Amino acid sequence: MGLFGGRKTVFVDADILVIGGGMAGCGATYESRYWGRDLKIVCVEKANIERSGAVAQGLYAINCYMGMQWGENQPEDHVRYARNDLMGLVREDLGYDIARHVDSTVHKFEEWGLPIMRDPKTGRYQREGKWQIMIHGESYKPIVAEAARKAATKVYNRIMVTHLLMDAAKANRVAGAVGFNVRTGDFHVFRAKAVIVSAGGASHIFKPRAVGEGMGRTWYAPWSSASAYALPIQVGAKMTQMENRIVLTRFKDGYGPVGAYFLHLKTYTQNGYGEEYEKRWYEDTKALVGDYIDRHPVPTCLRNHAILKEVAAGRGPIRMVTKEAFQDPHKETVGWENFLGMTIGQAVVWASQNIDPKHINPELTTSEPYVMGSHATCSGAWASGPEDYAPAEYQWGYNRMMTVDGLFGAGDTIGGTAHKFSSGSFTEGRIAAKAAVKYVMEKGRDQPQVSEKEVRDLQQTIYQPLENYRIGRNEIVAGTVSPSYLLPIHGLQRLEKIMDEYVGGISTNYMTNGVLLTRGLELLAMLKEDMSNMGAEDLHQLQRTWELDHRLLASESVTHHTLFREETRWPGYYYRGDHMKLDDENWHCFTLSRYDRNTGSWAMEKAPVYHIVD
Ligand SMILES: Cc1cc2nc3c(=O)[nH]c(=O)nc-3n(C[C@H](O)[C@H](O)[C@H](O)COP(=O)(O)OP(=O)(O)OC[C@H]3O[C@@H](n4cnc5c(N)ncnc54)[C@H](O)[C@@H]3O)c2cc1C
Repeated sequence: MGLFGGRKTVFVDADILVIGGGMAGCGATYESRYWGRDLKIVCVEKANIERSGAVAQGLYAINCYMGMQWGENQPEDHVRYARNDLMGLVREDLGYDIARHVDSTVHKFEEWGLPIMRDPKTGRYQREGKWQIMIHGESYKPIVAEAARKAATKVYNRIMVTHLLMDAAKANRVAGAVGFNVRTGDFHVFRAKAVIVSAGGASHIFKPRAVGEGMGRTWYAPWSSASAYALPIQVGAKMTQMENRIVLTRFKDGYGPVGAYFLHLKTYTQNGYGEEYEKRWYEDTKALVGDYIDRHPVPTCLRNHAILKEVAAGRGPIRMVTKEAFQDPHKETVGWENFLGMTIGQAVVWASQNIDPKHINPELTTSEPYVMGSHATCSGAWASGPEDYAPAEYQWGYNRMMTVDGLFGAGDTIGGTAHKFSSGSFTEGRIAAKAAVKYVMEKGRDQPQVSEKEVRDLQQTIYQPLENYRIGRNEIVAGTVSPSYLLPIHGLQRLEKIMDEYVGGISTNYMTNGVLLTRGLELLAMLKEDMSNMGAEDLHQLQRTWELDHRLLASESVTHHTLFREETRWPGYYYRGDHMKLDDENWHCFTLSRYDRNTGSWAMEKAPVYHIVD
């Protein structure tokens, strides 16, 4: 069978194309229909939206809810909170925009059938913390997906989008996307007037702590393969804060969440000798970051920093003190249920290691770094802000439009706005969709043109790894190693090793410097050269190949950004050994990058941080 033998090419025309049907994508699909009653709205998803994305397994809490109906918090409060946690650097216009709309999203979830726990005394939603409300969330994703399914003209499941298409007539305007069906292999060409990228964040760009056949067990979903970043980067969209990777303190080996434990069960941590340790590192941390250590709550990265220092001083492991809280049967139940709704694996790990948290305080550890824009970090695309709130410099058209015309984003895709979480991502999808519909309406008959040649060239490129394998496997004499091709798993391991050793992963205790980063970039460039020799045995491996391609491009971006920012802004997430201190004088700014796919070069610049909320 030849390269394209037996595979169909499917052409789809859409007004709005939503790439990735996770939380943000479902929000975008739902809202597109609200504003664009007669528009053709297509959602394309690499898995099945019923159970896809970071919320696939369910969640136990919605982490972003203001509670404005009860006067609990105002949007400004959330901006202050996120700014504090990100050591001063957030897009306040975008964050405010989400915070002012997020409650209405949560009310919709409840209307659609999501059980939200209530405080029996007040009748309000049960708070886990200041921003979090507790849910029975095992079916969170199917509930949200149903709304998107009903709104979409069509949802295309099992299609991995590999590249965006650009307008043949106008430079810097998006025209659609291409990808392939991971089950049938059919080639899909989506021609669209506006595109919303909501394809999740990036796991597995740094080597995980989990090894061997357990390597799929990471905190962040292993299927989140950086498409949210690679797709816009490929076509020259500006990115921001890509150095701002996240490291999570989680229960050891199962990456079980700690939020409910800290906030609701009021558990706390100790070193291996049962001592409090955070205060011990106060002066040390103050010398690095100044009064950021005195902020309340203490920024997440600085709490990681204390753990890393304490363990490096030889007083590990750090443990969560659960023995006291678990004496209360209600708290014990909450502690276990917290896992059963979202991270069953942690309960299994504890069972397999004879850990009953009522009798043994379980170990915590820090994860490998991930790249994402919706949790406690804010990597992603540089987007235009809301008309009524964004400073002029942050506005170049439509809300959440990137620096490429007609290309929008939401959720993990958009940078500068940490702490949006599941509800904020869905909300941002809605915001982006409203603007995208306006864009499509205002463009009217002015439609982008797709070049047939570009489509044919991409088709050739996308399936080439199957051909490389078909030819190259003839040279295999034993095992799977061929002199002519590289398998996706080998490419992935090489990428993870480079990022780990040169860009501040676990094996260097998150430490890097200019020399290491420069060498890291050289090694990444060599891996990039080898990508044309990837061999894919089947469609599954073809998907792995393109996931690797996306991870690699995002990794390059992370490395360039980390090299550019000559300070250590977030100790506990990573350290620049050659610039160990936070430097507000020179680096109280956003970092921006732009990739040129014709030359392979990256242009870096700074952008100002505007503090809009006092
Ligand atoms: C471990 C973990 C725990 C969390 N806990 C909480 C919590 O307790 N409470 C809370 O509110 N939030 C929580 N969050 C945050 C929340 O899950 C995210 O903020 C939210 O899912 C981000 O939405 P998104 O749409 O950007 O990404 P996702 O929801 O991950 O969706 C991305 C979608 O894009 C698809 N996709 C990816 N690549 C492609 C491609 N190339 N082509 C087509 N489709 C593609 C994916 O399959 C997926 O469906 C947690 C996140 C993680 C990772």
